[in-house]
Amino acid sequence: MTKSMMFVLAAAVASGCSGTAEPYAPDGQPSETHTVTVWVQDHPALRHNTAVLGCDIWYPEGIRCDITADEGSADVRVYAHDAPCAVRADGTFTLATAFGDRSIVFETSCFGRDADGGIDAHAYRTVMGHEIGHQFGIWSHVPRSCDEPHVTHPTGGPVCGQALMNPMYDANISFETAIDHLAFDMRDRDSSVLEDGRPGISGGDPLCVFTGSN
Ligand SMILES: [Zn+2]
Repeated sequence: MTKSMMFVLAAAVASGCSGTAEPYAPDGQPSETHTVTVWVQDHPALRHNTAVLGCDIWYPEGIRCDITADEGSADVRVYAHDAPCAVRADGTFTLATAFGDRSIVFETSCFGRDADGGIDAHAYRTVMGHEIGHQFGIWSHVPRSCDEPHVTHPTGGPVCGQALMNPMYDANISFETAIDHLAFDMRDRDSSVLEDGRPGISGGDPLCVFTGSN
């Protein structure tokens, strides 16, 4: 992937054109284990424990996450951006952005809020799971439709279909799917916080823009 690639996580309404995805449930134990440290900006919209839960969506891959108070040494850093939600002409908006300098930025104004002022816990957890998937080295979105260009796993499985790593947020896909597992297995290990703690991509340009819609 190029250093200028960009990913934004947007929220999407479920397409309704395919069956309901199931969580990936491997047989036996994961072949690898990784502990990822996550630093979360002290901000009323960002609950630390929910961020860790989002990371733990990837538990089937042997990943666990710990919160750290040390921003400088964290594997992944999470920030809030409080500007008004910018809704595009097509009704979509950016929920969060992942950058190659190990940072994730939540557009807090684009989320619903819980009673305590934190961003909606389900959406927060799900979006966190998506964005940290990028930091693991899944720097390409998984196409929702297999009619779109997609890669094929060495075992022959097409990497397309319902996935946490689809480019648009879907509240119903709040877990790792079997397709996400293929994408994880094909991750860019040279640009992953899992392999050496350094994505190896300079910061600046966003690598994921995850999109939502009303
Ligand atoms: Zn993304």
